[in-house]
Amino acid sequence: MAEHESLEYGKADFVLLDNVSMEEFMGNLKLRFEKGRIYTYIGEVVVSVNPYRAMNIYGRDTVEQYKGRELYERPPHLFAIADAAYKAMKRRNKDTCIVISGESGAGKTEASKYIMQYIAAITNPNQRAEVERVKNMLLKSNCVLEAFGNAKTNRNDNSSRFGKYMDINFDFKGDPIGGHISNYLLEKSRVIFQQEGERSFHSFYQLLRGAPESLLRSLHIQKDPTAYNYIKVGGQIKSSINDNADFKAVADAMKVIGFTADEIQTVYKILATILHLGNLTFGVDGDVTLIENTKLVSVIKDLLSTKEENVEKALLYRTVATGRDVIEKQHTTQEASYGRDALAKAMYERLFCWIVGRINDIIEVKNYDARVHGKNTVIGVLDIYGFEIFQNNSFEQFCINYCNEKLQQLFIQLVLKQEQEEYQREGIPWKHVGNVILFLLFVQEKQVNTDIMPLFQMNAGCVFLRPKALLFESFVLRSTLWLFSLQLSPTDKSLEFDRDFRIRHYAGDVVYSVVGFIDKNKDTLFQDFKRLLYNSSNPVLKRMWPEGKLSITEVTKRPLTAATLFKNSMISLVENLACKEPYYVRCIKPNDVKSPLLFEQERCRHQVEYLGLLENVRVRRAGFANRQTYPRFLQRYKMISEFTWPNHDMPSDKDAVKKLLKGCGFDHDVAYGKTKVFIRTPRTLFSLEEQRAEM
Ligand code: ATP
Ligand code: MG
Repeated sequence: MAEHESLEYGKADFVLLDNVSMEEFMGNLKLRFEKGRIYTYIGEVVVSVNPYRAMNIYGRDTVEQYKGRELYERPPHLFAIADAAYKAMKRRNKDTCIVISGESGAGKTEASKYIMQYIAAITNPNQRAEVERVKNMLLKSNCVLEAFGNAKTNRNDNSSRFGKYMDINFDFKGDPIGGHISNYLLEKSRVIFQQEGERSFHSFYQLLRGAPESLLRSLHIQKDPTAYNYIKVGGQIKSSINDNADFKAVADAMKVIGFTADEIQTVYKILATILHLGNLTFGVDGDVTLIENTKLVSVIKDLLSTKEENVEKALLYRTVATGRDVIEKQHTTQEASYGRDALAKAMYERLFCWIVGRINDIIEVKNYDARVHGKNTVIGVLDIYGFEIFQNNSFEQFCINYCNEKLQQLFIQLVLKQEQEEYQREGIPWKHVGNVILFLLFVQEKQVNTDIMPLFQMNAGCVFLRPKALLFESFVLRSTLWLFSLQLSPTDKSLEFDRDFRIRHYAGDVVYSVVGFIDKNKDTLFQDFKRLLYNSSNPVLKRMWPEGKLSITEVTKRPLTAATLFKNSMISLVENLACKEPYYVRCIKPNDVKSPLLFEQERCRHQVEYLGLLENVRVRRAGFANRQTYPRFLQRYKMISEFTWPNHDMPSDKDAVKKLLKGCGFDHDVAYGKTKVFIRTPRTLFSLEEQRAEM
């Protein structure tokens, strides 16, 4: 008997629960976790619980078990979802995507890597050299991105501090021929500051601990991280991470991907510059602001291949255009420190985006002629930050949670709407299920009405998008941010007046503090820094800062705010996902102490709640677990019935399928659409599979 049916491991698909209640759901999830079954389905969605231990389930033999199989033929696994996405793409020429969600430490990035590893393992049977090269680069890119985009946090030793969406392109044979990475909102505030117990991005510690002496000397860097203000806090942390070995692995990966030696050197110079910047201090002499440790300026000018006076000037003055005049305005020490930190953050963020861009240049599909080779199809993998509620929630959480609202909305739209449309097309009645209310958020800046991030109010049962019929009040930014939220009065005692606001998200209420909100949103970097970097005689650095080309009088446009940029990138992400066939992995973090044994009931229940998994089961049960076109169904199961084997003599395939299912006694559990048969419960499907196997 298939493992699906074995009670010892609980139910392999939550749809099979006797009652859809939170208790039963949690009971099943816990039982399976304890039995080492970390994956469970809800129809075609994989629910994954982080095992916090090495599992022997990702090897070559497991790959073979899942390759080319149908979802319900094997125990639940990431590989099955990856295979389903791959098959759908190959068989039906459809672009597909795998959306991985869950909170920090739940296992998203690991899952995305296993999925890529699986796809790499099942493709290129002919060992074409070019395809092998592409696969290798795609896999290696993870290591580089993690070095620069991940950090140790209190929740995860290898936490992704950016959102990542990766397209893998396939040729008509189904072999990978290239890819494209999009990155979202790097948490750049980490460059200058970390919470107690956390570190900055891995890249800094890798450089300090792994670089050869000669390199460190040329960068004027010493090995001890606590010598650098920006990473001091994290510098004392002993962790499981082997920075030394990782430095070499990353340097190697960059070489394999195709970064030039000059490019790699520039990367190190930028990291070193940032570390030195953090140690710069400012003082005053009379009414002149000055840099206290001028020796550092000399080091920085070498690293940036520019002149000492340029560095000094950019740090101490800003050029302002007033009407026709251009004047140099001296910073106060406070402004100078602000500028220094902004420069450090911007340089790191730009470096990260540049690395992603370089990888994209190299892995993008080249010389593919669709007229000759047929359509080039895509599997997208989205590994993006989950919903966040912290003690202090700021601009970053605001953006991240907005992103999750968008993705949830898309999930509802895709899963329910597609479902509903298909039923209508096939002439099968549609049952309405409970409502999911999304709250709406509206941010308005007083002078510039550019920052509007509306989340649509929607009703999942009938999936009406109603952007106009909005039930909301708006936030107005004055000198500080004022807030009125829908359900709560502004005098709510739990909110600090003039500082906090609360949003009722689909996943729960979150209180945000406006401290630093506007600054982070405006994300100002003085033009003088852009010009400084653009005028470097290091061509790699210069290329990173093209906008530095403009002189002060040419810079007229107000730069878009961070929230607007983020909103725009989310819109294009959602558009991109919406035109693909989606597969979902929902990750759950079982405890806060990285224990393989502990299943914290309350913690898990909360995640199940905000991931909307129970509703997911209800939707799935209200609908049909499986549907297949009549010819396809016959092709697979015709041997079960004497009426259909080896051929049937009915007027249509539909009639033949009816006869077959009636004969097996499954008639009550199916519905007959115009072109497809709909099977309500997975149990029926498993039985059909078993009967087929017995033939
Ligand atoms: P973040 O949002 O912070 O990036 P994440 O969801 O990407 O978090 P991961 O980095 O994938 O979380 O996982 C955190 C840790 O959990 C991993 O470093 C690993 O130790 C463990 N882990 C996750 N998935 C698995 C797995 N399938 N098998 C074994 N260990 C795992
Ligand atoms: Mg991650």
